[in-house]
Amino acid sequence: MDEKKERTLTEKIVNLCLRRGILSPNSEIYGTFAGFYDFGPVGVELKRNVEASWWKTFVHMREDIVGIDGAIITHPAVWKASGHVDAFNDPLVVCTRCKKRFRADHLIEGALHINVDGMSLDHINEIVSSVKVVCPDCHGILAMEKPFNLMFKTHVGAVEDEASVAFLRPETAQLIFINFKAVQQFSRKKLPFGIAQIGKVFRNEISPRNFVFRCREFNQMEIEYFIHPAEMNDCPYLSEVSDDLLQLCTEKMQLEGKNEEIITMSVKQAVNEKIIGTTWHAYWIARFLRWFTEIGISSENLRVRQHIKDELSHYSSETWDIEYKYPWGWKELMGIANRGDFDLIQHAQHSGKDLSYFDQEKGERVVPYVIEPSAGLERLIFTILLDSYYEKSEKDEIKTVLKLNPTIAPVKVGVFPLMKKDGLKEKAREVYEMLNNYFVCEYDDAGSIGKRYARADEIGTPFAVTIDYQTLQDSTVTLRDRDSASQVRVHISELVETIRKALNLSSGGIS
Ligand SMILES: [Zn+2]
Repeated sequence: MDEKKERTLTEKIVNLCLRRGILSPNSEIYGTFAGFYDFGPVGVELKRNVEASWWKTFVHMREDIVGIDGAIITHPAVWKASGHVDAFNDPLVVCTRCKKRFRADHLIEGALHINVDGMSLDHINEIVSSVKVVCPDCHGILAMEKPFNLMFKTHVGAVEDEASVAFLRPETAQLIFINFKAVQQFSRKKLPFGIAQIGKVFRNEISPRNFVFRCREFNQMEIEYFIHPAEMNDCPYLSEVSDDLLQLCTEKMQLEGKNEEIITMSVKQAVNEKIIGTTWHAYWIARFLRWFTEIGISSENLRVRQHIKDELSHYSSETWDIEYKYPWGWKELMGIANRGDFDLIQHAQHSGKDLSYFDQEKGERVVPYVIEPSAGLERLIFTILLDSYYEKSEKDEIKTVLKLNPTIAPVKVGVFPLMKKDGLKEKAREVYEMLNNYFVCEYDDAGSIGKRYARADEIGTPFAVTIDYQTLQDSTVTLRDRDSASQVRVHISELVETIRKALNLSSGGIS
């Protein structure tokens, strides 16, 4: 697809989100508040379903992972120890003529079309002073500013002074590290094991952009997976995924200028050739790729890109991003970092508490290494919408369909009477009340039946049940499948079972 068409796709998604109550800019009646969004009635269902699928897959279905839900405001010492107070900065430039401030990395990206994610401040400084990047508004000369810390500040207690400063958490990860020892003891987990968390985080982005792709308040879904340092290559689950294919963009490829290219190889090959450093890292990359396809994202739109040295965060020795092919190019959908023992050591030093783990079998004390799969929920939802959006023309009309996987669809079944009269409405209400005990249903009797199917398709409702005149005679209804628009007649007494079976099929089709 060319750039213009793709840009239109983003606009269409934003439009759909506003029109159907999926996501909308915060405080709209006051003229919006950049970088903050509210989920509407349809969006909140989608969000809860995605969260639930993540939690089920990575917490409930696994004996080696437990969950927590930490506080948003945490002792400020946490963020000192983690490095966020000193190093969680965005490079800023100021225009010497109009005095406007911009993010240096975004300006460089726009002007030179190079990837600057995670590039060091010195390097960015160098580019700004050596290359002629000018003010996008007035073409004035730009000067570097003091780096800008991304954490939101607040005060705890009645006095607003330096001593009462606290931060809204910029990531959920640190809550897991500071609770590591306690959670390990409560849950009696042995290495290797993980701690999972989903929750709000806050980053004072200078230039939030691309709808909810980069916003100031969002939800993170993170696992910190703790492993004995000597067992980083002993992942017992690797065989489950070793034949899965990865579309890779390695550090080597990027250093050769092949940033947009992909090589395809199996997980096994990537591990054997040491392209991915450890088997645990390879496993988590592959497991998340699987989950993304399980919730309906097309695998051909996903690739795995290695961070080049310059780009690695201060805590990481190796990071791979799962990237999605967005309308504006391959960009991070989630990151999977090898954080080593950085965080536990930092917190042990700053708190003076022992955060090591006693390995009873080996009779030794170790500080575990950590693999961290981390994703932003809002960005994932936007990605799901982009990936599932399609249009079909019906009688000269363009109709929008969200091909959402039934697992995450906000509404599972629409229930419609063909007409409101002759007892059809009453019968439809009866069927709706019955189905609503089992699935999230929506009753709709407004407008033509075609309009009602279209409204349901637009928010990705996989099935529609229609009550017509034949229903009154033989207690059968029509069951319509969103993707094929085909209909079958089903007896009301078999409806729950038929829908349940169809929902469980990954294809979402009616059998
Ligand atoms: Zn200017």
